[in-house]
Amino acid sequence: MTAAGIERKQSSADLYGRRIMELSDYLAQWSETPSGLTCTYLSQAHRAVANALASLMKKAGLETHIDAVGNVIGRYKSKNALAKTVILASHYDTVTNAGKYDGRLGIVSALAVVEQAARAGREFPFHIDVMAFSEEEGVRFGTSYLGSSAIAGRFDPEFLGRRDAKGVSMSEALRESGFDPDAIAGLAYAKSDIAYYLELHIEQGPVLFESDLPVGIVTAIAGNTRFAVTIEGEAGHAGTVPMPYRHDAAVAAAEIILCVEQRCSRTGLVGTVGRLNVPGGATNVVPGRCELSLDIRSGTDSLRHAAVADILADMKGIAQRRGVKIELDELLNAVAVPCSAKLQDAFAASIERTGLPVYRLQSGAGHDAVMFDKLTEIGMLFVRCGNGGVSHSPLETITAADADFAARILSDTLGHLTV
Ligand SMILES: [Zn+2]
Repeated sequence: MTAAGIERKQSSADLYGRRIMELSDYLAQWSETPSGLTCTYLSQAHRAVANALASLMKKAGLETHIDAVGNVIGRYKSKNALAKTVILASHYDTVTNAGKYDGRLGIVSALAVVEQAARAGREFPFHIDVMAFSEEEGVRFGTSYLGSSAIAGRFDPEFLGRRDAKGVSMSEALRESGFDPDAIAGLAYAKSDIAYYLELHIEQGPVLFESDLPVGIVTAIAGNTRFAVTIEGEAGHAGTVPMPYRHDAAVAAAEIILCVEQRCSRTGLVGTVGRLNVPGGATNVVPGRCELSLDIRSGTDSLRHAAVADILADMKGIAQRRGVKIELDELLNAVAVPCSAKLQDAFAASIERTGLPVYRLQSGAGHDAVMFDKLTEIGMLFVRCGNGGVSHSPLETITAADADFAARILSDTLGHLTV
């Protein structure tokens, strides 16, 4: 590489990487808790982050507003007033004691790319709306995808009546912050106005880290089945009931957990028993009852359905063999949302132009992108998560070099998109 070539590469790394890290640190200064980062819907910290994002967007030359649900939207306008819009988005709320990058990385990367585009006078055949969604995690009111649902026309008015831990309803919280809850229904974008939805997000898992790659293209956002499982066995004295006569609910649970692990170890599936409880359990009592949760995900619905069917059949066998009763309550059956093949290929072409291998993976976590699948083609790019893939934790981290690479892919992809 020539000296000039190296210089160009370095200045590009400075351009996006440093800016993204700086913006992430800047936004992390507002937190509800003195140590760590917590920024839940309509808290003071949340309002401060929205205002900070709005002034950053304005400074970048974007036509900016904060909408009725607290989304911050900045438009980089096309010369063609009738052009469609490409949405670059993610969320700025956080979980409790969060990392700095979940959600915000997608916003600040989009902002860094558009800032530079504005500086360079770049033109696109579409408007670019950088969107910072107000709420995705559902921490305060249990309403996941709140901000994106409003833009996608999927806002559920029932949300407004929900109350937080202090008894404040969402509509009260909105009015207190100067928002008009009645205006939320009018925020929806028309399907005909949206060209594409693109979201860059930290991976929140170890796959890219283990594969030693800075980015990966998301093929689908996994579908998800959840059950609450209750096992009724027979309680007994731990000293007096011989092993062959027992109907131990906890041992049945153990067998179920192993069967979930075994069945979901096949490619394309993940299965988790995250909650396990022996109510009123005691050292000297054979467990008479056991409760557990079951969470099965896959980017391919047929794989998920087949795994669920097999696990339920195994449970039936376990119940018969052990003389216990198993009750199932299905809590969730969410379909997988595939990412657009066209946008996957657009990201892939851009990655290929850098000489790095293209890696595709599914997202086991839900993202704002799922709200848009009925409206437009969605594309997601994952960025390597440091510390072995830890997320929803202060240990969540990325490198400036990876942030820079991802932003360059986003910028290059935008330059090649046709509408
Ligand atoms: Zn997120």
